[in-house]
Amino acid sequence: MEKRYDVLIVGSGVGGLYTALSLPEELSVLVLSKQSDTLSNSNLAQGGVAAVLSFENDSFDLHINDTMIAGGQANDPEAVDVLVHEGPDDVRKIMTFGVDFDKNPDGTIQKTLEGGHSRRRIVHHKDTTGAELVKKLLAEAHRRKNITQCENSLVYKLEKVKSGFCAYILQNGEAKTVFADYCVLATGGIGRVYKYTTNPAVATGDGIRLAYELGAAIKHLSYVQFHPTAFNGPDREQFLISEAVRGEGAYLLNCNKERFMHRYDERLELAPRDVVSRSIILESRKTGSNNFYLDITHRDREYLLNRFPGIYAGCLEHGVDITKDLIPVFPCQHYLMGGIDVSLDAATTISRLYAVGECSHTGVHGKNRLASNSLLEALVFGRRAATDIKRCIDKGFAHVEVSERECDITGAPVPKGMRNEINSIMQRAYFVIPDEDAVRTGLKQVDRILKRLQSGKFAITPEYCETLSIATVAHIILKEVDEG
Ligand SMILES: Cc1cc2nc3c(=O)[nH]c(=O)nc-3n(C[C@H](O)[C@H](O)[C@H](O)COP(=O)(O)OP(=O)(O)OC[C@H]3O[C@@H](n4cnc5c(N)ncnc54)[C@H](O)[C@@H]3O)c2cc1C
Repeated sequence: MEKRYDVLIVGSGVGGLYTALSLPEELSVLVLSKQSDTLSNSNLAQGGVAAVLSFENDSFDLHINDTMIAGGQANDPEAVDVLVHEGPDDVRKIMTFGVDFDKNPDGTIQKTLEGGHSRRRIVHHKDTTGAELVKKLLAEAHRRKNITQCENSLVYKLEKVKSGFCAYILQNGEAKTVFADYCVLATGGIGRVYKYTTNPAVATGDGIRLAYELGAAIKHLSYVQFHPTAFNGPDREQFLISEAVRGEGAYLLNCNKERFMHRYDERLELAPRDVVSRSIILESRKTGSNNFYLDITHRDREYLLNRFPGIYAGCLEHGVDITKDLIPVFPCQHYLMGGIDVSLDAATTISRLYAVGECSHTGVHGKNRLASNSLLEALVFGRRAATDIKRCIDKGFAHVEVSERECDITGAPVPKGMRNEINSIMQRAYFVIPDEDAVRTGLKQVDRILKRLQSGKFAITPEYCETLSIATVAHIILKEVDEG
């Protein structure tokens, strides 16, 4: 790692990688991952990428309409327009990097259906689309001489300096600093603020905290998506049963093994996620049971093994054979629609600071993301961030001034149990259907924890940094909900 780069990208998910690959090859680019370069939400994405790649039975207007309906019409129409119109070219671009979407026997790209989509338009690589994208984008990044990539490099503080940023990094436990003219936050989701989430361990909202500490505008952080059908098992990280399973005909059943969605929405199992999650919670109150199931056993075994190999294997690990058994499911935290507020060029309110992917708020998702629009957003706005950075560089903006920085990372260990306490508060107060009283008391408890973390002299460790991020994100969410 050098002392200075033109562009620092914090995060190696689809957002961070595609931004790096969209930058001119004359620029020096540093891409950091908190742990391994494949531990990310991107790598777990199953269903696919939504894009109108042909107009035979689809149109941009239909995709826009579906996105706005799912988002409760709270989406930013301009951002949705950009997403839907520009997305297909980005999907074609990643195919030039080798991304292999499943094909029909005649060689055309297969398209699947997911909740909230009025047409089959989701392109996929079996049920491991995200891993395919990350693998091919990483391989392309490794080929580029201008891109340096470092794993186990946690950015714990971002300082605005003249003409750029100084990033404070814990690299394999050692404190380092790096300077960059431009910084792109691509740090992904906030799942670990909750007790149960589909997100991996790195999803602690660090980028949102870093931007918040710099004074960047944060918007709609309370727009949290709860996926209706996570595997209902004992684990903290819940295994997702993709919407595509319902798209391919799975029924959602209550504890009496009866379909029930007709009581809540005429779109039945394929209603948008927020509707299905809320219906499950209401149905559970009615039946007094949290036992819900997906049933896809009526589909051909060979078809299921070929179409959903990852889900088949994941469920089998828990003793469930999806070709014969009902799959136990329940909603859990999945995605964040709000985030660091950005322009159509992914620029934050802080000069030279950009945010892309799940940590950003572009406004495309409104109150509820349409399935498979997230990878698309990471691609479109990642490329737009890169274009804007290039535009600034072409205008001859000054380079960052590099200087020496002291990094004292010593201090007391972070008190045990804080993370669990925040997780329980959030699960109680703000899960699918908010509990007003729990929000109010939860906010007070979270603020107490946050104050303690900010005022004490704690050792800078991943545990401390992540607890601080989780507390900051929980504080912003609960405050927003409390203030209505
Ligand atoms: C199980 C699952 C299935 C999904 N399925 C789909 C789907 O089918 N289609 C779809 O469109 N979307 C899907 N999503 C959502 C989608 O995957 C994510 O929203 C998207 O991939 C986010 O990409 P990203 O680049 O913003 O963040 P991520 O892919 O999460 O990457 C975040 C990166 O930031 C790094 N990072 C975080 N904090 C720091 C720090 N402090 N210092 C250094 N690095 C840091 C991490 O190491 C990681 O590399 C799914 C999500 C999950 C969890």
